[in-house]
Amino acid sequence: APAFAYGEALQKSLFFYEAQRSGRLPAGNRVTWRADSGLDDGKDAGLDLTGGWYDAGDHVKFGLPMAASATMLAWGGVEYRDAYQSSGQLPYLLDNLKWVNDYFIRAHPSPNVLYGQVGNGGTDHAWWGPAEVMPMSRPAYKIDASCGGSDLAGETAAAMAASSMVFRPTNPSYADTLVSHARQLYTFADTVRKKYSECITDAAGYYQSWSGYNDELVWGAIWLYRATGDAAYLTKAETYYDNLSTEPQSTTRSYKWTIAWDDKSYGAYVLLARLTGKQRYVDDADRWLDYWTVGVNGARVNYSPGGEAVLDTWGSLRYAANTAFVALVYSDWRTDATRKTRYHDFAVRQINYALGDNPRRSSYMIGFGANPPRNPHHRTAHGSWTNNLQDPPNSRHILYGALVGGPKSNDDAYTDSRADYVMNEVATDYNAGFTGALARLYKEYGGAPLADFPTAETPDGPEIYVQASVNSAGTTYTEIKAIVQNHSAWPARALTDGAFRYYFTLDGATTPAQITLASAYTQCKPPTGPTQFSGKVYYVTIDCSGTSIAPAGQSESRREAQFRIASTSGSWDPSNDWSYTGVATTPGATPVTVRNIPLYSGTRKIWGDTP
Ligand code: BGC
Ligand code: CA
Ligand code: CA
Repeated sequence: APAFAYGEALQKSLFFYEAQRSGRLPAGNRVTWRADSGLDDGKDAGLDLTGGWYDAGDHVKFGLPMAASATMLAWGGVEYRDAYQSSGQLPYLLDNLKWVNDYFIRAHPSPNVLYGQVGNGGTDHAWWGPAEVMPMSRPAYKIDASCGGSDLAGETAAAMAASSMVFRPTNPSYADTLVSHARQLYTFADTVRKKYSECITDAAGYYQSWSGYNDELVWGAIWLYRATGDAAYLTKAETYYDNLSTEPQSTTRSYKWTIAWDDKSYGAYVLLARLTGKQRYVDDADRWLDYWTVGVNGARVNYSPGGEAVLDTWGSLRYAANTAFVALVYSDWRTDATRKTRYHDFAVRQINYALGDNPRRSSYMIGFGANPPRNPHHRTAHGSWTNNLQDPPNSRHILYGALVGGPKSNDDAYTDSRADYVMNEVATDYNAGFTGALARLYKEYGGAPLADFPTAETPDGPEIYVQASVNSAGTTYTEIKAIVQNHSAWPARALTDGAFRYYFTLDGATTPAQITLASAYTQCKPPTGPTQFSGKVYYVTIDCSGTSIAPAGQSESRREAQFRIASTSGSWDPSNDWSYTGVATTPGATPVTVRNIPLYSGTRKIWGDTP
């Protein structure tokens, strides 16, 4: 039996990308706790920029990591299509690649314009709630012919070209569309020669282009060459290769880092080695992967006692997983037996570490294997309604398939804390190479996907409901304090046309004209009625429409209405009143959840029971 169910891990890894979707979700969306969001994206630019992926545990759509993730995901599909096919996961891969490429198409409205970010890092990160009810405005940011950036345009070209290869067999016209965008984007990148984070300055605080754009110019050309067979792109890739970075004070290509959202040089070493067979690329690829395995001149990436190769503190497992994927691709091609085995075994070790073969005997993939993380730094999966990272204590959803950051140093130590975005955030780039590696390991070792995945989640209690207590009681009246609560998370949704009803029975000879209504305090509209329900049973309506009650903050998620229903007939008996049942009756008591005060959205009853 395989060490792990790689097919199941692959299945879940793809599901994670569905949980990250922004925009109008398709019918058949598998993530039952997600709904449409970010529907105004692009409006400030006069464009439809809906769609794409939320970057991580936040809701910014950062273009560079999104494109880099799409390229890596597509690369896995290009190399291991057979494994995707045999595991039954190819439709999901295609679906997720279509989702992100449709967004790239919308973000590229003319040859030299590419939208590279929607949402502002500062305002987005300052709020902690579900995507479906985001309150902040989400500005769109672009690069163009005067402002740059070659890295963003080059990577997006790579993503679309690589994706076109995955679509080619089943959807050639879409593949053609992607190639034509990729060609234009590459020309733009090759001409403008600037860094995107000097143009989209908001990105600099999160995804600054540290490595510059030379690597993306090589990378984009490689993928265009692979997608089109046009030799001019291979020539460009090989020419620009000379501009790639080197180790300090040397002419040796950089080898002490790895392929990630910022720097694609390492991917270029491997693919150019394979495409040309030239020794210089082989040497660069070998040196890089030797640094990650046996070491080079006595220097090696840090290893933990438990076997994790730890490059950096933030999201260490993502570097290990990305490296593992490229190591597998390279190993599959490399003929030298020692190196073939070395790089293969390294990759298996790193992926297995992430799946649970580690000193903690715990999986780092959410919803997979033994003792996986439960509380990632992820706003929508948490499902807070009070704009509070600590409330509720446990995340309300299982973010299946997401790889968390992992240990922050080479000590195998980790805490499942939502507050820790270094160890416990998730991101589209964390899973990207990981997914391809899982496909490759499925191909070699098997480990079936689950037949009944995903199981739909059950809400943890009432989502939108009414609480009430008696505020004050008298021989001629009842005064109620009622609160409409919106703790929705399956999916999170705003209530903008809410109204609830208080049902009661007229006593003795009391006529409806003898009923008076008053409100000392309300966040809704004044009470109206009474309206006859049947016989002596009437109801009063409290209309909360026109304001949004949403799980977006402490006060945003609730509305309070106090109302007094009195009779001038001298006859008042609350004990036979439908809605009185279940209300906390001690005057001044804390309101309790009560079913007999039904709540409506428009004309549709969404909570409680009528008589
Ligand atoms: C956000 C994270 C982000 C971190 C660093 C936090 O406020 O929630 O998504 O990674 O800031 O920018
Ligand atoms: Ca770069
Ligand atoms: Ca009564």
